[in-house]
Amino acid sequence: MKQSTLTPLNTPLVRVHTLIIGSGAAGLNAAVQLAEAGVRDLLIITEGLQAGTSINTGSDKQTYYKLSLCGDEADSPRALAETLYAGGSMHGDLALVEASLSTRAFFHLVGLGVPFPHDGYGQYVGYKTDHDPRQRATSIGPYTSREMCRALIARVQALGIAVREGRVATQLLAIDADGGRRCCGAIAMANGALEAYLAENVVLAVGGPGGLYADSVYPQGHTGGIGLALWLGARARNLPDLQFGLASLGWRWNVSGSYMQAMPRVYSVAAGAPHEDEFLSPYFASAGELYTRLFQKGYQWPTDAERVSDGSSLIDLLVYRETVQRGRRVYLDYARNGQGYDEATLDREAHDYLARSGALRGTPLARLQALNPAALALYAEHGIDLARQPLEVALCAQHSNGGLAADSWCESENIARLFAVGEVNGSHGARRPGGAALNAGQVGGFRVAGRIAHRYAGDSLPLAAALAAASSAVQETQAWLARCATAPGHWRAERAAWQERMSAHGGPIRALSALPAAIAAAWEQVQRIEAQGCACTDPAEVAEALRNRQLAFAQAVYLEAMRYALASGVGSRGSAIALDADAGEHIHPLLGAEWRLAPEDVARRGQVLETVAHGSGQVASAWAPVRPIPTGDTWFETTWARYQAGEVWGP
Ligand SMILES: Cc1cc2nc3c(=O)[nH]c(=O)nc-3n(C[C@H](O)[C@H](O)[C@H](O)COP(=O)(O)OP(=O)(O)OC[C@H]3O[C@@H](n4cnc5c(N)ncnc54)[C@H](O)[C@@H]3O)c2cc1C
Repeated sequence: MKQSTLTPLNTPLVRVHTLIIGSGAAGLNAAVQLAEAGVRDLLIITEGLQAGTSINTGSDKQTYYKLSLCGDEADSPRALAETLYAGGSMHGDLALVEASLSTRAFFHLVGLGVPFPHDGYGQYVGYKTDHDPRQRATSIGPYTSREMCRALIARVQALGIAVREGRVATQLLAIDADGGRRCCGAIAMANGALEAYLAENVVLAVGGPGGLYADSVYPQGHTGGIGLALWLGARARNLPDLQFGLASLGWRWNVSGSYMQAMPRVYSVAAGAPHEDEFLSPYFASAGELYTRLFQKGYQWPTDAERVSDGSSLIDLLVYRETVQRGRRVYLDYARNGQGYDEATLDREAHDYLARSGALRGTPLARLQALNPAALALYAEHGIDLARQPLEVALCAQHSNGGLAADSWCESENIARLFAVGEVNGSHGARRPGGAALNAGQVGGFRVAGRIAHRYAGDSLPLAAALAAASSAVQETQAWLARCATAPGHWRAERAAWQERMSAHGGPIRALSALPAAIAAAWEQVQRIEAQGCACTDPAEVAEALRNRQLAFAQAVYLEAMRYALASGVGSRGSAIALDADAGEHIHPLLGAEWRLAPEDVARRGQVLETVAHGSGQVASAWAPVRPIPTGDTWFETTWARYQAGEVWGP
């Protein structure tokens, strides 16, 4: 790592071989694997080692997905790849890579001390998660990803990898090279001042797009940074395929698993009015059906377009309608049963489960206590006593299956030397097994390290061009910051505006008819922010104002991709329910005529949606065929020869 100054701008300049932006579970492992592979000139820049989703989130039983390693259940990389691929809109080579490296990634974490449970014979036990035909999932409890991060941070420190905290990357740099575009670094803000970074390779590990939604269970303060790459013109994949689910708002947490299996009383209130409306009741044929669906929400947590009309996701839709459309607030009350609750009317599965768990108790609180006392304790640790306080909930953005379009080495498909790992990498398709996100993030580190160590270890950066790109970006940013001094709109107000827009039009419920106006407003906002800047009352918030540029741009690109997908007839899939007032299937007789669900066009599962932004207001999307799972030659002798010749690291 070399430090100097960008003349004549007097901006600190760092040159490093490989720059990693972000220190979640994915970025940390990329750094560790690069160092292990012999790439030692490394630097992580990050908002902070304690920031981001991985170290600040969890769930009832936070899941890590991997190859099955227990009992007599047959499993193989191919079988796991087929499960990943079966979710639809996922490239087969990416599925095979995520499957093949899953054991290596998992045992790396085990070796670092992450306490994944095994039996007395050393078998790593597993359970079935959503969209999983086997028992491949494992967990260490509510905080799996946090413990992964802690173990990886210790390893980063032991390896002596340089980390600069308190950095907000505000722009990626690229130059023309070899007939295309090549990423060559980033601009970041630290303590109110700009810094420039130049690198042979840039690993973007900035997580999912938490900053795009008002209703979000991403940790408070986690905004994500995919907009940095979209702004640069990096191709994206499957942007509309986000995952949503019910979550608490004060302290952000998925109310999955036992929180729902305890069947709390669900009600809504209007602002300032005391009347509590148990709004779900009219939509179910009986109280028994309502509470059975509520119970099922526990293990059918993400909103699922296939479970709306007569399934548990009708609850999600009704909560969305109360909060986003009717402006009411929705609460889960564990102190009392809802109207008509009678355990004798539950369906057999729910009743048996509660009976076997010793949870056929008189109140939701008693049931939760019997099912999972740790779930109660978690809220208590955050100052929330579920015996006394109802829990405010909403249908929240939780994960992005889509992201940047990268090859099987995690390198951007159209910007050379820009790698994407973790949630910012759009490797997943329409649906994914629960826990596959954490696996994909770890696997990415091995792929990036292998490719860089074996193909991009040298020095090839055209320095003059890279310096020119950095100087011009710093100058342009300084000019934008100067405009902020007189900006009419505060950065918080601007951010709130697109977050509301995204939750209303780009969230779990989408209507093609509403998107053109939302997109027009989004681009109008992008242009206003560019032209006028964003005001901030506190100089410490300048980085947040600057961050608004890429986030505002990202919301517009996401909305454009959603419009394209709906216009091409993708319909309702994954967690996204598409409404079509003309042709859809009426969801419920008590809902208005606009609540008609557009059916999924399953043929689209054989394609991925690719999106590229060429500048403000210029976004192109297109469907491309899914690549099949490779069936290459795995004969030992020939593979060994290719391995020894170094061919396995790609051209
Ligand atoms: C409530 C919840 C429950 C979940 N449960 C599961 C589960 O059970 N199983 C599963 O597989 N997945 C789950 N996920 C998803 C999974 O946790 C995430 O996909 C994963 O942790 C993302 O890891 P990451 O390293 O890509 O990003 P993150 O952990 O978010 O890290 C991103 C890093 O980038 C930094 N950063 C961001 N922007 C910038 C910038 N501009 N400049 C500098 N640094 C920046 C952040 O500070 C952070 O260090 C869950 C997610 C949520 C929200």
